[in-house]
Amino acid sequence: MLRLGTAVILIIAMAVGVPSFAQSKDKKKMGTAVEKAAPAPAWMKSSHTKLENGLVKKYGETQRARAQRGLKQVASFWRTEDGDQTAFEEFVTTNFAGDQKAIDTMFNRYEYLLEQYNGHMHEIVREFRQQSDLDLGPIMPYDEVFAGYDPSSHASDDFFNNKIAFVVLLNFPLTTLQDRLEKGPNWSRREWAEARLAQQFSKRIPAEVNLAIAKASSDADQYIAEYNIWMHHVLDEKGQRLFPAKMRLLSHWNLRDQLKADYADKENGLAKQRVMQQVMERIIPQTIPEVVVNNPHVDWNPFTNEVTAAKVQDSESAAPGDMKVTNAAEPNTRYAKLWGTYVAAKKADPYSPTAPTLIARRFDENREIPEERVKAMLEQVVSSPLVAQVGQLIEKRLGRPLEPFDIWYAGFRPRSKYSEAELDKIVAEKYPTPDAYTKDIPNLLVKLGFEPEKAKEIAANIVVDPARGSGHAMGAGMRSAKSHLRTRVGKSGMNYKGYNIAVHEMGHNVEQTLSLNDIDHYLLNGVPNTAFTEALAFVFQARDLELLGLASDDPQNEALRTLNDFWGTYEIAGVALVDMGVWHWMYDHPKATPEQLKQATMQIARDVWNKYYAPVFHKKDVPLLAIYSHMIDSFLYLPDYPIGHLIAHQIEEQVEKTGSVGPEFTRMVKSGSIAPDVWMKNATGQPVGAEAMLAATERALKTVGGQ
Ligand SMILES: [Zn+2]
Repeated sequence: MLRLGTAVILIIAMAVGVPSFAQSKDKKKMGTAVEKAAPAPAWMKSSHTKLENGLVKKYGETQRARAQRGLKQVASFWRTEDGDQTAFEEFVTTNFAGDQKAIDTMFNRYEYLLEQYNGHMHEIVREFRQQSDLDLGPIMPYDEVFAGYDPSSHASDDFFNNKIAFVVLLNFPLTTLQDRLEKGPNWSRREWAEARLAQQFSKRIPAEVNLAIAKASSDADQYIAEYNIWMHHVLDEKGQRLFPAKMRLLSHWNLRDQLKADYADKENGLAKQRVMQQVMERIIPQTIPEVVVNNPHVDWNPFTNEVTAAKVQDSESAAPGDMKVTNAAEPNTRYAKLWGTYVAAKKADPYSPTAPTLIARRFDENREIPEERVKAMLEQVVSSPLVAQVGQLIEKRLGRPLEPFDIWYAGFRPRSKYSEAELDKIVAEKYPTPDAYTKDIPNLLVKLGFEPEKAKEIAANIVVDPARGSGHAMGAGMRSAKSHLRTRVGKSGMNYKGYNIAVHEMGHNVEQTLSLNDIDHYLLNGVPNTAFTEALAFVFQARDLELLGLASDDPQNEALRTLNDFWGTYEIAGVALVDMGVWHWMYDHPKATPEQLKQATMQIARDVWNKYYAPVFHKKDVPLLAIYSHMIDSFLYLPDYPIGHLIAHQIEEQVEKTGSVGPEFTRMVKSGSIAPDVWMKNATGQPVGAEAMLAATERALKTVGGQ
């Protein structure tokens, strides 16, 4: 799933805040100096007029607007330590490109050198991670240090200090999302590339701010990573143990996935699902006893909230001697961690003039879809009349009324002609070694509709490596490097699950190769955002059986997949609306306490539920949408999921329309990393939106509902 080493990644890393090893020069200033950017030096204003007139005199009146813009952009980032008035004036006079030839030379040089920088940095990262990413034997402690090292973490500081960044700011335009959306559709490719070049230097976040963000992020991550519930010790309403010994579920992912799996448990599934909902409804308001978190030494009834010493032992460790068996509630730690991420993220605001809040950085820079449009798309899904129809279909399939946890209903499963064991056998025979898969890539691409010559060319750019984990794709950062497909092949050959993942990752690799090597400007390499690369990978993955010659022609399967996707989008769209509401609330209440944040989060979650879910579930005031752990540690990441589903449907529908993956894929990715709406209009004629998914759902309901 990895996509590293592109210019876009550099921007994202700077926006979110990567760990930086740079130490503040003046430690005493930390904490006080960070909230506000230092004002521009007093001499700046008089320098401006003088320099503007000087540049116009030298290069002509046509350069006045460029000179004004460049001076303004440089001034907004120039600090006292960058130099005095003389240094500033000399810098501007020396580095202003005053005619088209000079601008072209500068642009081409930057484009070439940034490719070298990003590409080689990425190669170092890939090599340093090799031992931990690949199945190459034991990981030594120092391997982990290598894997965690980011050689470009100082890039932003360095490029401002040596003024590489200021040269760009003096000569190329900084743009807002509004500029890119309003004027972008009429920009030339070169203008887009210039906008992307300047965007890389649109913020200058001090090292101590990046450190604070990294720290808040890792604090929250750690809190989340240790939030396990020992399920054998969680009792149902009648005090019975429903879950097996040693079962430890991480909130919220494992709780949700277990809840989904329990639709298959005909005996106890429903009772277990009710228990898990109750656990979640104790975590959200923090009425969960602190002692039950990650602790197998107490039994807990989440309905009565009673805690007792564990009556059975199912862990290796002994109870800590100082453990107090009490149901004293967790002291709002969940919300304190979330608040910590907000306080840290906000420190970057003064240094990011074109996107001065975390909310703006997420929507305007990372996603490049305005927040109002995202909100409208999500609301279009959650308020669709199709929701009630799908809800009724689920009730029919379950044979009971919906309960709140059915937002995670997992019963729309396509029927397969082949068992997993049969598929494992077929795949293992076909791909006994990674090499066998590598050799077959050109052939697989031809089956997907790529021209044979093109298929060979793409395949030559993909290196297959043995993955340590389940697999991932790692693109290249420069055209002279290759993309890597990491896949897992056991001693007895590849199994079906591994193959399915390999086909997904191969989709990433093909996109990575084409959107880097076949693109007119390096600065436009890639796709608009991660949702696009995932969508393109899913186009491949969905055809895995077809590539084995085992595709089913049952229209039910396609319809069931769509309904599953729609219901999942309905659920995660609500979660995303809560995440957005909570970040706005924090920005509107900069002095809030964790307790107030908790109350507000619950209220926002209940409001979203009451508006879009209560009419379908016939129950009000459910806080369940606030359970996602990403909301606590991921800085407003959740809207990416529903947007990803919508984009996937649009792309899939476009591919379906033309009937062949290869040519469409090749055509679509040529747009590169321009704004999502502009990309999607080139690809499908429509901006990013929910219509494709809703139309597919309507068709699917007719196919499945009629049965
Ligand atoms: Zn992926």
